Amino acid sequence: TPRVFSGIQPTNHLQLGNYLGAVKRFVEMQNDGMETIYCIVDLHAITVWQDPADLKHATRELAAAYLACGLDAEKSILFNQSQVPQHAELGWIFNCVTRLGWMNRMTQFKDKAGKNAEKASLGLYAYPSLMAADILAYHATHVPVGEDQKQHVELTRDIAAKFNHDYGVEFFPETQPIIEGAATRIMSLRDGSKKMSKSDPSDASRINLTDDADTIAKKIRKAKTDPEPLPEALDGLEGRPEARNLVNIYAALADISPEQVIAEHGGTQFGQFKPALAELAVEKLAPISEEMARLMADVAEIDRVLGKGAERAAEIAEPILAKTYDIVGFVRSR
Ligand code: ATP
Ligand code: MG
Repeated sequence: TPRVFSGIQPTNHLQLGNYLGAVKRFVEMQNDGMETIYCIVDLHAITVWQDPADLKHATRELAAAYLACGLDAEKSILFNQSQVPQHAELGWIFNCVTRLGWMNRMTQFKDKAGKNAEKASLGLYAYPSLMAADILAYHATHVPVGEDQKQHVELTRDIAAKFNHDYGVEFFPETQPIIEGAATRIMSLRDGSKKMSKSDPSDASRINLTDDADTIAKKIRKAKTDPEPLPEALDGLEGRPEARNLVNIYAALADISPEQVIAEHGGTQFGQFKPALAELAVEKLAPISEEMARLMADVAEIDRVLGKGAERAAEIAEPILAKTYDIVGFVRSR
């Protein structure tokens, strides 16, 4: 049976790309009646330095965002990764399956480590192996993610296949990345060649789900664009990454296609299009940020929801890890 797993790191605030590229799809899959498991991947977060108090706050805020965006703690399993030790346990086993040559090809590590890779943590390098464990500890088959995570989900398939081959079993399933819609790669508002990210040092590069209406409008007004008006046809966006990005954001927020956006707004100047986009963004995001603020007023309730989710997650992962230990040949001495 199909089982959906995905996760988001509790770093900083959720940004528009996370919402449009990931969480909106999480909600759709939940509401389609699929078995859905959504994690707050705190073990991944600490692959780069996180202040402990900030990490706690970001974890609870991400839980609040999940709920405010329409995830339901009864229908979906919502929890934070560190509370289910099977992730780390399977991650270690996968570290011993994964080849260095595979890891050396991972573009996220190169992007995040930057020029001085000697100073990056070993955890940042091993990140994709832990991500494979996140998915396969539940035998998940469907993984909704943004375009930037495609390579990691493909690596998950390689790790599963190598494990199955090395141990002569048909144990871990093939995983499918689910990357659909106009918003699979939302770009930075300041640089059309860089994806929007929670951890980008420039706050002006992104829209946070916690931003108020004035901040959202200001960031869109200041978004980098070229001087041309919007084209009359979609192929006129070629070579115009910033314009393309704003059209994609509009489409994803309005639940229409980029073609429809061009049909409605083709020929208009950014001086007109940007306020329309800002109005739409505020209309869609304000109810979410209000609900997040309401939920954040009761942290104990958030922790309770996460605790219950972790128990349900562990019920699935425990037998899968027990079987994995048997396959690997670990003696069960207690
Ligand atoms: P960080 O900068 O800390 O890596 P992030 O914004 O990249 O933060 P992640 O927690 O790494 O967020 O990713 C969460 C989910 O959001 C993943 O499925 C990822 O593919 C998706 N995602 C991240 N950025 C974008 C984006 N710009 N457009 C669409 N989807 C995105
Ligand atoms: Mg990321």
